[in-house]
Amino acid sequence: MFRFSSTPLDESALRAGLCDPACGGYAAFEGWVRDHNEGLRVRRLEYEAFEPLAIKEGERIIAEAIARFGVEHAACVHRIGALEIGERAVWVGVAARHRDEAFRACRYIIDEVKHRVPIWKKEHYENGDSGWVNCERCAEHAQHAAHAHDGHGHGRPPAPAPDYSRQMALKEVGAAGQEKLRRAAVLVVGCGGLGVPVMTYLAAAGVGCVGLVDGDRLEASNLHRQTLYSLADVGRSKVELAAARLHALNPAVEVRTHPVRLDAACAAEIIQPYSLVIDCTDNFASKFLLNDTCVRLGKPVIFSSVYQYEGQLQVVRPERGGACLRCVWPQATRDGLVGNCAEAGVLGPVPGTFGSLQALEALKLLLDLPGQLADELLMLDLLTLRITRVRTRRAADCPDHAARRPAAGDTDPTLATASAIELTFDPLEEALADGFEVLDIREPDELARVATPCRAARHLPVAQLLHGTAALSPTGKYLLVCASGKRSLAAARELRARGYAAAFSLRGGIAALTSDQRTRTAARPSG
Ligand SMILES: [Zn+2]
Repeated sequence: MFRFSSTPLDESALRAGLCDPACGGYAAFEGWVRDHNEGLRVRRLEYEAFEPLAIKEGERIIAEAIARFGVEHAACVHRIGALEIGERAVWVGVAARHRDEAFRACRYIIDEVKHRVPIWKKEHYENGDSGWVNCERCAEHAQHAAHAHDGHGHGRPPAPAPDYSRQMALKEVGAAGQEKLRRAAVLVVGCGGLGVPVMTYLAAAGVGCVGLVDGDRLEASNLHRQTLYSLADVGRSKVELAAARLHALNPAVEVRTHPVRLDAACAAEIIQPYSLVIDCTDNFASKFLLNDTCVRLGKPVIFSSVYQYEGQLQVVRPERGGACLRCVWPQATRDGLVGNCAEAGVLGPVPGTFGSLQALEALKLLLDLPGQLADELLMLDLLTLRITRVRTRRAADCPDHAARRPAAGDTDPTLATASAIELTFDPLEEALADGFEVLDIREPDELARVATPCRAARHLPVAQLLHGTAALSPTGKYLLVCASGKRSLAAARELRARGYAAAFSLRGGIAALTSDQRTRTAARPSG
């Protein structure tokens, strides 16, 4: 697709190589040797290239053009050696279904070849002088570059190598950490608002292999939050666009593309080669599919969900026996209950923030840094900037974890069902110290008989809680309290099903509090 030729270019033969009955448009560009440059008469010129590097870069440019513009065929041939005035120096040809993409791809290829491919031109002037054109144009630049010039004492500096010095300067990273990143393979599922910052930071950090899964094509309405792409790219495959951009950002990273929507038939096969999975999808079906597959395969997953101005972050570590998505959300929340960006609306920096947090947690995990989010659900409301952290517990009845257990029967199933949602605080004041708002959901007459054994509880009878206009925040951390723990458990389940992820029930209710003398004196065990 890209090559050099030391003999004159035969345009009709080159064009014949692109012929395709499916194509209705062909655009070509030719660059010719002209007889003057910057006021000097030119007699002839020579081209030189560092071929292994130049061919690699040239082929990349052609592949980018095919991906970006969706053309069928593209090729470029550049002359090297001595050329006369009027000779073809470079030829670019593009065949496409329609003329517009053929023109645009052709323009893209020649512009990128001029900027990126290491080719040097030596002009011989009528006055007997000669000069390396590119070299002189970039003389100023070259003075600052610490590159040795080639044997001629001329030439453009070679393409710069990735430089990770600013992250390697961290003592926790260093050369050993950089090598850990280079050996890592991370799968990013979803190339949208979350996926864009995730993939960008991972590639920039030098993660050796980044896999991209997305079956969608770019839409103009994506761009306010998916800032890796351009308006001109609308209609193109997102994974292909993203791969081209990541490659330009860091050519040292291997980018693998999976232009599909993840489903049960392909999930395990796609995920298997990667050491870490990052969920950047916008629907619950995909999240639970990822969860189930990764629990089965024992792969860590970093989940995030965004809703309008707020979002959640959870790191699932099945290889360490941690809680999974189903442990926290026993009844899989249905799509539609919590809308996606298309229906609910979102400000671009909201997924940008959560994607950045996912990238950060991924690097912490790969580098084995302290402070990793584990067995916790982090909720962040970006309107109020309120952060809530909720402990996640592995549910004994979790279907995914049950499937991995060799033998069941060691726990009381009724107790187990409730374990992820029921908490014990004794005295109840401890819940306040842990950041909970305590909601006493008993009826007014119950409250009159036994006061809430907690100085800062809010009284919200269950009917008012579930059917009234009580202002609860979806990111709030609530502990529901009733007399025996039964009504509060049912109410907490109902709140969770409505999207209040941090609704909990006091296990056993007020009756179970040993520290409260008024309610427990009679039932207190002796001895
Ligand atoms: Zn689980």
